[in-house]
Parts: sequence; C-alpha cells; structure tokens
Amino acid sequence: MARFTLPRDIYYGRDALDELKNLKGSKAIVVVGGGSMKRFGFLDKVIANLQAAGMETCLFEGVEPDPSVETVMKGAQMMREFGPDWIVSIGGGSPIDAAKAMWVFYEYPDVKFEDLLTPFSFPTLRTKAKFVAIPSTSGTATEVTAFSVITDYQKGIKYPLADFNITPDVAIVDPALAETMPQKLTAHTGMDALTHAIEAYVSTAATPFTDPLALKAIQMVVQYLPASYEGCMNAREQMHYAQCLAGMAFSNALLGIVHSMAHKTGAAFSTGHIPHGCANAIYLPYVIQYNAKDMRAAKRYEDIANALGLDGVPALCAKIDEFNKRMGIPKTLKEFGVEEAEFKSKLSDIAKNAIGDACTGSNPRIPTQEEMEQLFPAIYYGDKIDF
Ligand code: FE
Repeated sequence: MARFTLPRDIYYGRDALDELKNLKGSKAIVVVGGGSMKRFGFLDKVIANLQAAGMETCLFEGVEPDPSVETVMKGAQMMREFGPDWIVSIGGGSPIDAAKAMWVFYEYPDVKFEDLLTPFSFPTLRTKAKFVAIPSTSGTATEVTAFSVITDYQKGIKYPLADFNITPDVAIVDPALAETMPQKLTAHTGMDALTHAIEAYVSTAATPFTDPLALKAIQMVVQYLPASYEGCMNAREQMHYAQCLAGMAFSNALLGIVHSMAHKTGAAFSTGHIPHGCANAIYLPYVIQYNAKDMRAAKRYEDIANALGLDGVPALCAKIDEFNKRMGIPKTLKEFGVEEAEFKSKLSDIAKNAIGDACTGSNPRIPTQEEMEQLFPAIYYGDKIDF
C-alpha cells in the first residue's frame, strides 16, 4: 500500500490571500519571520482578512532563518496560552517550517523534540487546530509538503522532520508575495525547485501520481526561470506555481543525494554559508552524471530531456550549466570560494554525513564512501564524472 497526500485546498492566483476571509473558526495565530512581510503590507492584510472572518488574532513574529528548537518551543507555548483553531504561517520556508513544528508541540505538550526525529511517526494532529501556509519565496514548497527543517544549535545539527500530519490543510499561493524576492533569491530558490522536481522524478519512490507533477514543474521552471530572474512578473507568477507542483511531487516521491550533499555542506566551511538552492544548483549536473550510470536512472533522465525537447542526458546537464551561468551561480565549489585545504581536511566527514542524510535512501544509486569521496572533489575542481 502506498500513500499520496496533499493539502485539502490550494488557493492560487492574484488576491488568493483574500480567501482567508472565508476561513471558519474563532481564533487564529499568525506566525511570521523577519520584517519583509510586514514591510510590504502582507502581514497587515493577513490579519485584516482573518478579522474579517470574525476571528480573534495573535501574532508570533521574528522566526529566524534556519529556525531553532527554542523558537519552536516558544511558539508552541504561545499557542497553548492563546488556544487557536487556525495556525496561519506566512513568509519564506523558515516561518512555515517553524509553525509546522510548533503545531505538534501545541497539540502534544508532552512530546519531546527527539520523538519527532523518526520519520512518519508523529501523533495525529488536527485535534486542536488546522494549518494554513502562505509562501513568499518560490522554492521550498513547504506550503504543500510533509517536511520541516529545524536546527538544534547546541548540537549544530539541522533536523529534517517528516510526516504527512504536518502537510498543511490550506496552501495560499499568491504571486504578489513572490514579486518581492530579490534577484539572487529568485535564482537560488528557482534552482532549488528544479532540483526538487528532477530528484523526485528519478527517485526510487517516484510513482504515477508524482511523475506528471514533477515533469510539468521541470518544464515550467525551464520555461519561466530566466525571465523571472530578469524581473518579469508574469514569469515570476508561473515560477510560484511551478515550485508548488515540484513540492507536491517531492513531498510524496522524496528526494536524492543532491539534497543530501547540500544539507551537509551548507554550513560546513569557514569561508561562508552556501545557500541551499545555490548548493543544489552547483551539485545537480554532477549528480545527474553519476546517477545516469544506473540504467533505470538514465532512462528517467532521458524522459526529462525528451519533455524539454533536448537530446539526451548530456544536453540536460548542459541546460542546467547554461542556467547557472546566466544567473551567476558558480560551476564548482572552488569557484564558490571554498578553500582547498579546508575542503580536503573535511572531505571524509562531509562524505560520510551526506551518505547518512535522510534523502540518500531514495536516490537511484546508493553511493559508497569511496564514491562520495570522488564525487565531492569532482564538484570542487569541475571534473567529469566517470565512475
Ligand atoms: Fe530543497
């Protein structure tokens, strides 16, 4: 038996935010990050719409990028005091991910954070509240996924939490919010979405339910990302939908080692954080070459190339290279600025951590330690993959 889970409703298009006026309930807590949603007026609009729905509102603001366990516990505490029947999260991936985790501790105060580390083992939610997610970036698709990434800063570890219980009830995909993204964020989040769709399509957990979503997302990203990057707001709207389709695919088909490797290198080097989407964009063409040595995976990448009117796997990799180049994304880790000595000294640990990442299990090839220790240097120096 398999399962395919999505939000009950996805409202999309201009003014989709107004749908909040039709929610039925008595109390809503709004969870938001830094100042941008407030600055652009979206937070006020959300609160006004909830009040128009007859709800009492309460605000939890200041969720940091890469939200911490402490922030999650603080938010859950506020929820227990206020007693909302709706949780409404708005912003980039961070406030939405944090709100998903707060939701669990709101409904189950006795659950420990450690209890949630086993995937698909959460207690049954929706005994107290339902959940609305309103994304402002076009990449993570957390508004439709079963995932939340929370950081334990004491241990220095990012924990991906996974359970269909935290798939939101309502996603509001309003393109006006994505119009506020700076150009670099548009590039990185767009390549994150492309990576989600490609990894979902070649995943060993891909199904006939996820394939059409992944392929359509890939076609839309390739069609619209360059213009979205250049500031065309129609293209940016299409990207907001494309990343959501990719999210529906990967929430059910899971991901692969591009994400494993990005998760374990994002904060690994003293020369600076590698943004998630940027790391994915750099690693993706190398991982395609590595995975395509597997016959089944090669066939799946050929499907993708065909759907794009491209001639085979090399042309698909060339297309990704072209996108990266056009948007100022480096071709290698060396070019990104990672120092050679530090890279070499950390290689074996990074390789080990990447293999152990939750995303590795559904990759079409399961790399050995030796292979991972070849893959990373190929990406560092820009070498061809022939293993
Ligand atoms: Fe991602």
